[in-house]
Amino acid sequence: MKGLGRDLAALIGPEKVKTDPLDLRAYSSDATHYFASHDPDAVVLPEATEQVSQTLKYAFNHSLPVTPRGAGSGLSAGCTPVKGGIVIDLKRMRKIIEINRGNMTAQVESGVVLGHFHHAVEKQGLFYPPDPQSLEVCTLGGNVATRAGGPRGVKYGATGNYVLGLEVALADGEVINPGGKCVKQSVGYDLTHLFTGSEGTLGVITKINLRLLPLPLARKTVLVVAETVEQAANLVTEIIAAGTIPAKLEFLHKGAIGLMNMFIPNKIPLSGEAFLLIELDGSEAQVEEEALRVKNLCQELKAREVKVVAEEKEAESYWKARQNLNPVLMSVFKRMINEDIAVPRDKIPEMFRAVEKISRTLGLNIGMSGHAGDGNIHPVILLSQLSEEIEKKAGIAVEQMIKAGLELGGTISGEHGIGLHKAQFLKWEIGEAQVALMKRVKQAFDPSGILNPGKIWT
Ligand SMILES: Cc1cc2nc3c(=O)[nH]c(=O)nc-3n(C[C@H](O)[C@H](O)[C@H](O)COP(=O)(O)OP(=O)(O)OC[C@H]3O[C@@H](n4cnc5c(N)ncnc54)[C@H](O)[C@@H]3O)c2cc1C
Repeated sequence: MKGLGRDLAALIGPEKVKTDPLDLRAYSSDATHYFASHDPDAVVLPEATEQVSQTLKYAFNHSLPVTPRGAGSGLSAGCTPVKGGIVIDLKRMRKIIEINRGNMTAQVESGVVLGHFHHAVEKQGLFYPPDPQSLEVCTLGGNVATRAGGPRGVKYGATGNYVLGLEVALADGEVINPGGKCVKQSVGYDLTHLFTGSEGTLGVITKINLRLLPLPLARKTVLVVAETVEQAANLVTEIIAAGTIPAKLEFLHKGAIGLMNMFIPNKIPLSGEAFLLIELDGSEAQVEEEALRVKNLCQELKAREVKVVAEEKEAESYWKARQNLNPVLMSVFKRMINEDIAVPRDKIPEMFRAVEKISRTLGLNIGMSGHAGDGNIHPVILLSQLSEEIEKKAGIAVEQMIKAGLELGGTISGEHGIGLHKAQFLKWEIGEAQVALMKRVKQAFDPSGILNPGKIWT
């Protein structure tokens, strides 16, 4: 090793540093590899906060860019090291430090994989609701840094609702502990939630304190087949307005169900145009009662079919297929551009109509799925062929969908974050004054601009 690699190796140990070009290539992008990629100059794999802090001190003194990285499953090119420099890969910091049943909290290192954490807390009868569909790979640090959501957002909110405190290494290597382990805190500016969603641009999160809930005793899945996309969208708003807040309320287009059926033993009938996959949770009596209520309502509103899934195994197969939908699409199509627009729930029908029109006008295959219960729609542009013309059209479609979402009072990202992908649209939503204020905040935390440069703003 020479130069940068040698210095870093001397600082934190050679086994924690990578400079081989083949290794570096693996760190050049996230799950949006087609969008932008750039190799870093070195990767460090710290095993403790002290090594993160030492790496940052070095980078600060040498004005080197630093990009924090969890699992690289992001969908906004957030951890793509566009300016090179050092990637800090936090995967080796994967200790669950504490699960405190009495206080209903946990403390973890930021590289803990979300799915492992779910299993660990559920073993103790506790529950951590956020469930991005990448849960088998994504890290809690990445979840906090992007304010990740998932199907359970409709009832339980997203990652930000569970973060109580953090340990963060700042740009110059100093380590701070905003927040704590209390459910209530009123202590000056809420730095904990400023780091939450900051996409690695304000500091490197090394530890996280999370709030936990009791594990619901029972779950019940209901499948609704709707005649049209519009009917499905109306059902989403009606189910909730009538008083049932499902734990999950997923909208899926017929094409998505067709693909999911490849992995479901008891196939979902493809008779309708759109589908709702609903999970209710609570006590046994509550889920039975709510399932009946949802069934009656959907029947009254003339849904084509409503099925309360009796067998837990069958329900599990539906949810597993839903979870794996994105990877399947990625393998079937040459490129998949996953949008992440959220609109107020009562605007879902209009948003669906707008996406359908854009798809028709541009002649693009745009599938639709989403965590419709919380208004978060994921229109997915599915490209079987690539050419300059098709890619240009896809770019136009993204712009038009974002404009349509904003016109309906929505937001350009419900859960994936801004990264590079949405940077050009940020001003459309929050305006010049807020962008300027955010830049001043960034300046205060990271005066020499070494932390994840090139992200959030163009
Ligand atoms: C198949 C698939 C399904 C998905 N489903 C969902 C979903 O349902 N909901 C959802 O919200 N997202 C989803 N995602 C997107 C992605 O998984 C989430 O954004 C996730 O939170 C990223 O975690 P990560 O560990 O992979 O972070 P990375 O991709 O490595 O990083 C994401 C951002 O966080 C920053 N970062 C990472 N770790 C730290 C840290 N310790 N300190 C400071 N900054 C850090 C990075 O710099 C980057 O800006 C999906 C992705 C895929 C591929």
